[in-house]
Amino acid sequence: MSASPDAPPLQMIVIGAGVVGLSAALALQERGLSVLVLDREGPAAGASAGNAGAFAFTDILPLASPGILKKAPKWLLDPLGPLSVPPGYALQIAPWMFRFWRACSPAQVAASTVAQTALMDLSKAELEPFLARAGALGMLRKDGNLQVYESQAEFDAGLEGWKARADHGIEFRHMRPEEMAEIQPGLNPRFTHGTFTPGWFSIADPKLYVLALAERFRAQGGAIKIAEALALKPLEEGVEIALSGGEALRAERVVLAAGAHAHLLAQSLGERIPLETERGYNTTLPSDAFDLRRQITFGGHGFVITRLSTGIRVGGAVELGGLKRPPNFKRSEAMLRKARDFLPGLKTEGGTQWMGFRPSLPDSLPAIGFSKAAPRVIHAFGHGHLGLTQSAGTARLVADLATGAAPALDLTPFSPQRF
Ligand SMILES: Cc1cc2nc3c(=O)[nH]c(=O)nc-3n(C[C@H](O)[C@H](O)[C@H](O)COP(=O)(O)OP(=O)(O)OC[C@H]3O[C@@H](n4cnc5c(N)ncnc54)[C@H](O)[C@@H]3O)c2cc1C
Repeated sequence: MSASPDAPPLQMIVIGAGVVGLSAALALQERGLSVLVLDREGPAAGASAGNAGAFAFTDILPLASPGILKKAPKWLLDPLGPLSVPPGYALQIAPWMFRFWRACSPAQVAASTVAQTALMDLSKAELEPFLARAGALGMLRKDGNLQVYESQAEFDAGLEGWKARADHGIEFRHMRPEEMAEIQPGLNPRFTHGTFTPGWFSIADPKLYVLALAERFRAQGGAIKIAEALALKPLEEGVEIALSGGEALRAERVVLAAGAHAHLLAQSLGERIPLETERGYNTTLPSDAFDLRRQITFGGHGFVITRLSTGIRVGGAVELGGLKRPPNFKRSEAMLRKARDFLPGLKTEGGTQWMGFRPSLPDSLPAIGFSKAAPRVIHAFGHGHLGLTQSAGTARLVADLATGAAPALDLTPFSPQRF
């Protein structure tokens, strides 16, 4: 392996050492390829570190849907609520929001649900063998998710979505408060209904998981270089990556897995991909903050509470505020205040706040496929709320593409050129 432009190129460079990039790097190694991972900060620097740790395989319905359009006006009224657009960013994000709105049509929702289900099924099938090979099976938890509702009306409004999930073979059980109290004592009685999904798994801690993937990758001979990629250039038999500092790297193929920043590098190839970020916030409390038995989703409030091996994480929310504004941690505080009300025994002292950039495309599907401008570049980004969930499936697909194998599923709905 060499960084010099005159040396023979590496077989693969993966840009981005988040959960998507490192999962792909391991899958490429397993196919016998030499792989370098490039990240400007090192493993687990982005959204993959601070997410809620869920393998939300049952979350097959796209976010872009008529349901969200109904909730959005009310949510937008509360500046610290589940959805916000800072006024200074509204104009910039308007084209993305227009595309999002268009993706809410019944035909597009149906098509996205079929595509998302296929990627979820693949990701679920790949996950345990992948974790076993990565030596991380011990970090997997299968304790399900409890979504809670505050009224009959809120519960009824979700029934259509549950029917759609049932149509796609997803298991769930609606619960009354007595049953909810059995699987999660200490919930505020304001929650009158719940739905338990057993097929929703989680990871002990998302950051430790990505660091474990990095460790396994290195142990198998992979190299991780800390440097910023500035631009990509197609070559006759490969791709050149210009780095900050003037250096350049060459590889036969490149995987672009730079999360919410990936479109900036695609742009250097002349490709315009409407990637935006849905900024999310959380607070991680000490482990003894609450006797949490499994992840709980407060759907009407746009956040979850999760039990990790390293603490209790309260977070979610969507802020359509771009990549440059400083975090507004009043959002983390607002969710924590609500969480204390929803779980009256929750101890809210001693937490650590975090903000991360979900990489989001307007139709709620990721971009997985060859770049049009540079067919030796494989795009693997835009997983929005589901990057951890879909990481093992995406890794399988990237390895299929890189080795010329038939992809494990039809990639048309995920085409980077679909916009
Ligand atoms: C609050 C919150 C909760 C979430 N909860 C869940 C959940 O429970 N389950 C789930 O599946 N998903 C969840 N997500 C979404 C999930 O975290 C993301 O989809 C996922 O982490 C994206 O992974 P990634 O590898 O594509 O990007 P990242 O983890 O962001 O990694 C991208 C990497 O690329 C590097 N990079 C960027 N630009 C360059 C460059 N020019 N040169 C070199 N390196 C570069 C960055 O340093 C970074 O390390 C959540 C997200 C948030 C914010």
